Amino acid sequence: MNSQGVKEISKDLSIAKMSNDELHGHLKNKSCEERKLTHHILQVIAEVDQRKLYLRMAHPSLFDYLTKEIGYSAGSAQRRIDSARLLRQVPDLGNKIEEGKLNLGQVSQVQKALRLARKQDNTQLLPSEKKVLLEKLVNKSGPETELILAQEFDFPVEAEVKQKIQKDCSVRLELTLSQGQMQVLERAKALLSHAVPGGNLVDVIVHLSERYVKQRTGSSVNSKPKSSETATTNTEANATATVATKGGGEDKGKEKVVSSHRDQKPLETSMKKMILNRDQGCQFTDRRTGKICGSSYFAEIDHVHPRFAGGTHEKENLRQMCRAHNQFRYKEGC
Ligand SMILES: [Zn+2]
Repeated sequence: MNSQGVKEISKDLSIAKMSNDELHGHLKNKSCEERKLTHHILQVIAEVDQRKLYLRMAHPSLFDYLTKEIGYSAGSAQRRIDSARLLRQVPDLGNKIEEGKLNLGQVSQVQKALRLARKQDNTQLLPSEKKVLLEKLVNKSGPETELILAQEFDFPVEAEVKQKIQKDCSVRLELTLSQGQMQVLERAKALLSHAVPGGNLVDVIVHLSERYVKQRTGSSVNSKPKSSETATTNTEANATATVATKGGGEDKGKEKVVSSHRDQKPLETSMKKMILNRDQGCQFTDRRTGKICGSSYFAEIDHVHPRFAGGTHEKENLRQMCRAHNQFRYKEGC
């Protein structure tokens, strides 16, 4: 084994030996270094762009050079090109990236919006105006950034439903939902996460439609092929929470069988619904920070005091938990 190989292994071992606090701190430090390096790389790409070095090296574009010569994926290359070009006009952007206040995805969203605004009504922002715009996006998520940009540039709201039949007889559908309609759909998606894993909105809509047709006509409809054929169509959306018990057994499926044994009554569906409505998301809490998970995906009902240790189905002993945290708690015994 060469010395480099030995070094790699010892590095891995040192990570494996870190405490949770050390591991968290280590990742924070390294991601900080990564952001500094990203800023530096953007400066280098900006210089390559200005010198048109890629042309000298027989690449038709900076994008072609970054993907074929440097090895970036198409998305990574485009985000870096967008960011490097904006960085030249607004040097302060580099500090925002280093501090983690803005990310390359957001900068790419800005550049895309600027291109659209220019095309739409020839809107051109001065570098000072771009700096002000970037300030408004500090610490915002991707969807928040999208909303702010749409409002800033007054992009028209498209309400028309577009439907196009494609050569394989599939239909391309483009539609607009209000904020409230989207919230309802997202809620349905979360409640259906057991029956329609993966969170594909097409599968959610098809699943709901199939259930409605069956409910009204009594006959099933076959919508195959789906993008992911995994739905169990006879499962009640609100009643999909599985009764999860912890400790003792290696198999949660077995635990479920035990919990429905004659002297261990299963949890009533009405109680499951009540807990899901009461909690509105996973109740797993980081004891040190107080952060609550809040996810509604793969919602399960957790017994605070486990069933095997005498815990009851009383509502005070029940809480909603996402499958990932329920399994984590089961494994860790926390
Ligand atoms: Zn959770």
